[in-house]
Order: sequence, then structure tokens, then C-alpha cells
Amino acid sequence: MNRTDDWYEVTRLGERGYSIDEAEKYGSFLIAGDERSVLVDAGIGVGDLRGLVTGLVDTPITVVLTHTHWDHIGAAAQFDDVLVSPRELPADGRVAIDSLSEEFVDRPATFVDRWLADGGTFPDEFEPETYAVDPAPASAVPMADGIDLGDRTLDVYPLPGHSPGHLGLLDREAGVFYGGDIVHIDRGVYLMFEDCDFDEYVQSVAELLDLRDAGAFDTLATSHNEALSGDDLSILDTLYGGLREIADGERDYSVVETDWGEARSYRIGDSDVLTKTTL
Ligand SMILES: [Zn+2]
Repeated sequence: MNRTDDWYEVTRLGERGYSIDEAEKYGSFLIAGDERSVLVDAGIGVGDLRGLVTGLVDTPITVVLTHTHWDHIGAAAQFDDVLVSPRELPADGRVAIDSLSEEFVDRPATFVDRWLADGGTFPDEFEPETYAVDPAPASAVPMADGIDLGDRTLDVYPLPGHSPGHLGLLDREAGVFYGGDIVHIDRGVYLMFEDCDFDEYVQSVAELLDLRDAGAFDTLATSHNEALSGDDLSILDTLYGGLREIADGERDYSVVETDWGEARSYRIGDSDVLTKTTL
């Protein structure tokens, strides 16, 4: 390391998309359009994300945040045009690490400690001592109208639960749904934060299943996993079935200690669904 180009891992996602991974587990996506391009989420803000994406597309870039957890808003302040769900747009119009709650303010420092302990390195221009997620001026995403890219429009779907204003974006022409933190395979589906709502989350997974079954997408790109397509999308059925059983009190759980205190942990397929200790 070195240069910011080495910090991000960029791969193609379909003909008009890019997957941008940061520190091996924080994903953003760039969707190229003829008149506008959209950056879905902004990672954790360690590198020059704006420099990276403006080198990949020629059209102006709008950042759309799937939600305002710290690991999705990291580099948002580098951009001039940032959109977020009205439900997560703070009164002062600035999306910040503590917009939803205080639960995430220590995450950048915790990340640096763990990354260095694992032998990780940073881009040369990055200063771990002063690392912070800067607040970003933002506006409300036009939920009903979608986002016009010129050659096509991205549809916006509210998918609350993991956070109050969590949303997904559908690139219908490409057959790709950008789902933020709606699934989390091999890791925890986090539903234990203060602002999480279990019932809303179950509804959101149901909505995503309906879209898949209607053929609206065949690839599901989420922030912390490889994109899913084909038969792998059956994890949504497994997840939904398990969530319904949790809702009906038919599923066993263990109580686990997380960075955010105690949570119930339910094993569903390849995910641990972590909920509050009272449901
Ligand atoms: Zn999140």
C-alpha cells in the first residue's frame, strides 16, 4: 500500500456496474448511466473513493445511501450530491455517524485497531490517528420517481428493519437489485440495534421475494457478500421461512454477547440472525 487504487478492489458487475470492496468486507457499487451514474453507499471512508469512481465513469455521480450506518456513509462527504431515505435524513440535513444513535461512534477506531492487529496496511495519505467519518450534506431520495440515469431509471424500494430508512435500488434493465444490508451470509443479520424493527424487516424480505418471483431481478448485490444469482437466491426463501418461525416463537435461540451488548442469535441457513433480547 501505497495508493488509494490499491485500497479498493474493483470488479465488474454486469455490463454497467462495478462492485467496489474496501477492507475485504465493506462494499459499494457504481452504476453507470448515460447522463448520471449512481454510487450505492460510500464505504468506510478510508480512501479517495471520489477519485476512484470519477475515473470509472464520465457522467455526474449521485450517491444513494442504502442507510446511514457508519460503514455505508464513510466517504459520502467527498461527494456533492448525496441522497438518503427521508426516514434517515436528519433535521439539519447532514448525515453523520451518530445520526441514528450513538451505537456506532466508536466503530472507526475499533476498525483501525482490528485492521492493524490483523497486519493490514492503509493508503499512504490516510492518517489513522485522525480518522473520522465526516458528516455529509444530503437530500431526500425521490422514493416514488426513482433516479433517472438518462438511458434508464433506477427504482427505489423502502426495505426498513435493519434500519428505519433502509432502501434498495433496482436496475431493472440489468436485472440487478442493490440490497444494502438486507442479507448477510456467513455473518450476522443485525437486527439488534436500537432503531431496528424485526417486523418491518420480515416485511422487507417478503417484498424482496415478491420482486424476485416476479422476475424483476436475477442478481442480488449486497454490501457485505458476493453478489447472489440463480439458485443461490433461494437463501431468501430459507431466510423468510426462518423469520416467520421466529415471529411465531417456534425457533430456538441462544443469547450471545456482541460489540453492542447481548442479543438473541437464531441460526437460519448460513446466517445468524441477531435480534434484541426482547422481541
Ligand atoms: Zn447496516
